[in-house]
Amino acid sequence: MSLIIEVAIPVPLNKTFDYLCNDDVTIGARVRVPFIRKKIVGIVLAIKDKSDFEKLKTVENVLDKQPILDKPILDFLFWSSNYYHHPIGEVISAALPKNLRLGKEAKIKKEVAPNSVAVGANFCTTKEQNIAIDKILSFKNSYHGFLLHGVTGSGKTEVYLNCTQAMIDQGKQVLVLVPEIGLTPQMISRFESRLKTNVVAIHSQLNETQKLDAYLMAKNNMAGVVIGTRSAIFAPIPNLGLIIIDEEHDGSFKQQSGFRYSARDLSYIRARQAKVPVILGTATPSLETLKNVMDEKVSRITLTMRAGGATLPKISLIDMRSHYGGSLSQLLVEKMQRQLNNGKQVMLFINRRGYAPVYYCKDCGWKASCNHCDSSVVYHRNINRLKCHHCGVEKIPDSRCPECKQSNLEVLGYGTERLEETLASYFPKIPVIRIDRDTTRRKKSFAQHLKQINTGDPCIIVGTQMLAKGHDFSNLSLVGILEIDAGLLSISFRATEHLSQLLIQVSGRAGRNKEKGEVAIQTRYPEHPIFHYVLSNKYTQFASGLLKQRHNALLPPFSHQAVICANSKNRQNAENFLVDTASLLKNINIDLVEVWGPVPDIIEKKSDYYYFNLYLQSTDRASLHQVISTFNENVGLIKLNSKVRWYLDIDPIE
Ligand code: ADP
Ligand code: ZN
Ligand code: ZN
Repeated sequence: MSLIIEVAIPVPLNKTFDYLCNDDVTIGARVRVPFIRKKIVGIVLAIKDKSDFEKLKTVENVLDKQPILDKPILDFLFWSSNYYHHPIGEVISAALPKNLRLGKEAKIKKEVAPNSVAVGANFCTTKEQNIAIDKILSFKNSYHGFLLHGVTGSGKTEVYLNCTQAMIDQGKQVLVLVPEIGLTPQMISRFESRLKTNVVAIHSQLNETQKLDAYLMAKNNMAGVVIGTRSAIFAPIPNLGLIIIDEEHDGSFKQQSGFRYSARDLSYIRARQAKVPVILGTATPSLETLKNVMDEKVSRITLTMRAGGATLPKISLIDMRSHYGGSLSQLLVEKMQRQLNNGKQVMLFINRRGYAPVYYCKDCGWKASCNHCDSSVVYHRNINRLKCHHCGVEKIPDSRCPECKQSNLEVLGYGTERLEETLASYFPKIPVIRIDRDTTRRKKSFAQHLKQINTGDPCIIVGTQMLAKGHDFSNLSLVGILEIDAGLLSISFRATEHLSQLLIQVSGRAGRNKEKGEVAIQTRYPEHPIFHYVLSNKYTQFASGLLKQRHNALLPPFSHQAVICANSKNRQNAENFLVDTASLLKNINIDLVEVWGPVPDIIEKKSDYYYFNLYLQSTDRASLHQVISTFNENVGLIKLNSKVRWYLDIDPIE
């Protein structure tokens, strides 16, 4: 006899589909089903007595005897689907490794062996660390949120390791989320070498077989630690005992395409459902997390001192107002020379890859820009191309100005590539290690760079954002920070929060050993208030000030936002769709929800598509979500010009 089963399928529709099934099947298993002339892999959500539909199609085949997704993880995925107003089929699909989505067999190819030679720390935990560990473990069998607010180098990772070991000793599994690559290899090896358990990693640098193996080891309770980037929040972990979010302020926990979710925010939900504690660790808490502390939803634990006798670096400003030519001030070059002479390493942070951000005509001021985006193009010297960092399109630089036909074309400004070149002329004998997306594209090359740095030999490290987080280079004693002024002038209400976090994180790379480190920030705005706090290491005070401003302006985290974004090759179609959406929303009874827009995106044209946003904001989360649900139900009424694409972003951060 055949069964009726309800199946979630990865299609952008807010519904599930019923099929007939002639074989035995359990909830949470994968089935291959016919769907409009195609065969698609879906997940069984329910087995039913009857269906509202007649003429059901029949399942092609059942792929799993055992469920791939158990009830707790399905509940979590449903919660996520609801909260982010995203179709359950697509949410489930985003949560599965690619090989399972493709219908491949759920079988482990190569087991990760447990580390039998784990070595303990060669130091004792500090009093502050002990207090933190005890406090967290006192909640080990119940839900509780902790902010572990420790200055850079204060030994937060030690606290994670101790709490994790305690959980493993009890037979539990621990989920550790870290920001996008960069940090991951180092974190993974620290967990691997210290803990007597199987540590599996889930991140983008792995191949699909490795990803599936890690996923299945987590699911089969064969891994004590699951460490990964944001999507690991959806890994099935039947014996979950603790969740750790490292560098919780980091923007990469937010998925910015397709199913847009925040792994940091979801970690509270997952922890609550599993009745386990969650630790959010950082030196620079996000305002969202600080608000949760204010509201007593999260307990703050502080580590105020650097571990192992190290002290925080001395931070100073270099006034660039009277500086012309070149990216490096004389003062910074002298500081670098002094450190390098002492056998130390130096790091220069510049958040821009390529050679120079501007290619322009000295005669008429024409500036090279992307033909497909509202954006200038960046000159990359090694490939001699102008490259758009938004759409990736490259072109050969013009040799004559297309406007005035003169050949007085030049580059302006600095990126990592040009800085590397400048350094070679200042310090011809010192190796320069450049770390950005261009030099780390190949697998393993990032790890190789890190290895070279970890030898401790004098060198100059030049890098972007990728270097800002988490790294612990023990011989690094000077950090120079260049070209941050654009961030000081940004109009985005989150800009100063993010800039202060970045400055403190980058500064935190210096002087992690016993000798005091030094940080020099080059700026043309030395009087900007942000520096008062950054220089004296008063992030908390700075953040309280920002929280007050947000409170007064009723901006997040004191209100909740959502944005409906439409884009189209035809500018008018995109805008019209949101104009219609706005009038639909205004017809719903929405006293508590403000609707603002449509307005063009900051970069209006990207890859030949025009982007418009409609913002929704409310101090009442339930009302906001009510309005979005109504919009979702009625969006079909808005004559959807088929050439308009739209998506929802709940709790946007950009
Ligand atoms: P964070 O994660 O807060 O940046 P880490 O956990 O990476 O800090 O610790 C910074 C450095 O201090 C590491 O090299 C670590 O081994 C060392 N460390 C941590 N705790 C102690 C301690 N109690 N005594 C001595 N050294 C410590
Ligand atoms: Zn010109
Ligand atoms: Zn472009």
